[in-house]
Amino acid sequence: MDKSKLTMNTLVNLCKNRGFVFQGSDIYGGFANTWDFGPVGVELKNNIKRAWWKRFVQEDPDTYGVDAAILMNPRVWEASGHVQNFGDPKMDCKNCKTRHRADTIIENFSKGTVSAEGMTDAEMEKYIEEHDVKCPNCGKRDWTPIRKFNPMFTTSRNMVGDGDQKDIVYLRPETCQGEYVNFANVRGSARAKVPFAIAQIGKSFRNEITPGNFLFRTIEFEQMELQMFCHFNDAMKFYESYKEKALNFVVDLGLSRENLRFHDHDKLAHYAKAACDIQYKFPIGWQELNGIHNRGNWDLSRHTEYSGKNMEYMDPFTNEKFMPNVVEYSIGADRLFLAILSEAYDEEVLENGETRVVLHLKPFLAPYKVAILPLQKNLSEKAKEVYAKLSKHFMCDYDEAGSIGKRYRREDEIGTPYCVTIDFDTLEDDTVTIRDRDTMQQIRLKVDELEKYISEKINF
Ligand code: ATP
Repeated sequence: MDKSKLTMNTLVNLCKNRGFVFQGSDIYGGFANTWDFGPVGVELKNNIKRAWWKRFVQEDPDTYGVDAAILMNPRVWEASGHVQNFGDPKMDCKNCKTRHRADTIIENFSKGTVSAEGMTDAEMEKYIEEHDVKCPNCGKRDWTPIRKFNPMFTTSRNMVGDGDQKDIVYLRPETCQGEYVNFANVRGSARAKVPFAIAQIGKSFRNEITPGNFLFRTIEFEQMELQMFCHFNDAMKFYESYKEKALNFVVDLGLSRENLRFHDHDKLAHYAKAACDIQYKFPIGWQELNGIHNRGNWDLSRHTEYSGKNMEYMDPFTNEKFMPNVVEYSIGADRLFLAILSEAYDEEVLENGETRVVLHLKPFLAPYKVAILPLQKNLSEKAKEVYAKLSKHFMCDYDEAGSIGKRYRREDEIGTPYCVTIDFDTLEDDTVTIRDRDTMQQIRLKVDELEKYISEKINF
């Protein structure tokens, strides 16, 4: 199909109808910018996370995994600068009372030709005035001044005594602090030597000013990220190597190279030495998919200062004592899910003139590896036997309702790479047909050969 015609709406509808993603709290009219992953969505998302973990933790002897708490000591967020400085430039339209991010307004207005990344609030206000940038919602220009908006969600907890006094606790807006605070724990328990990395997959929460675009920007999302702790002299080398690894990873997950590009940040955080994103061409245009940052020694220095625990490292070979630098690689699991869906989505016109919707997912990502389809209901006993056999090894779907053609179409739409059909010959000679999703070719195999045949094709 002509992919430039693919809209976010098409993906939202497919996701809802086929059980990938539902609106959060749907029966209550939803809860804006939250999404629930359905039966096939949770499989796809788990497969994405598994692939990431395999590539970056399992296959790398110098990377250690953790699963840190979401609720952290509030001092963590003071040390990280989030309590004081974390903030997006917010502007309200006084006419229609909608809230916007000034940088996004400018970038959208200029159709991406102007980057607001390096602009101060005053420069953004000046640009908006000089270019007469209007509210995208009501078309009026009646803006409040830009104010910083802290997108950390808060909750509270009685931390001392039983009194009524409650202390503010934050829902983490990023996972990486869980790795920084465990630097010494991991180093000591794993006898890790710098350079080494700590990786984590987990939920983050941001009270985004302008969430939206389906899974692209939500208020609760999952991050897959790692922090490489290294010597200052090695940091740029690791930065470059993670740029390459990050790109290779998403290409191996099926994103095509022409839909990916690097984007260096114009403006760096004051502590950062280098930062870039990998952008993907989503149905809404080129947008950040993941970030890679050389963060200098800011993170461990700050935690040393705020916790009073010295995070310096003594190199056992050189006897040099230094504060490790951090190279961070961070990618949103939900955003990657969306990119993979839009890349895999296809509408194909068949020889008989019908159109089929198919997700060309890499087999290791597909929610179900195989669907077991008895040609007729009275073959279900044998079909269930085959299901029981194969489901010990991988996720299988089972469907006996409707015509075989319709059942194939359904499996195509959720990206099932193989369909096994049980027919009357199966009862005679224990063979089945196995249909390939992409080519629609069918071959006949013995039931006993199925597990090996499929296993070989679903490796990552
Ligand atoms: P953006 O500029 O899009 O707000 P960011 O630069 O703030 O992103 P990071 O803090 O570097 O993002 O987070 C790392 C990754 O986490 C992003 O590249 C993205 O994949 C994902 N991510 C960040 N914010 C969200 C969100 N609100 N919804 C979904 N994914 C997100």
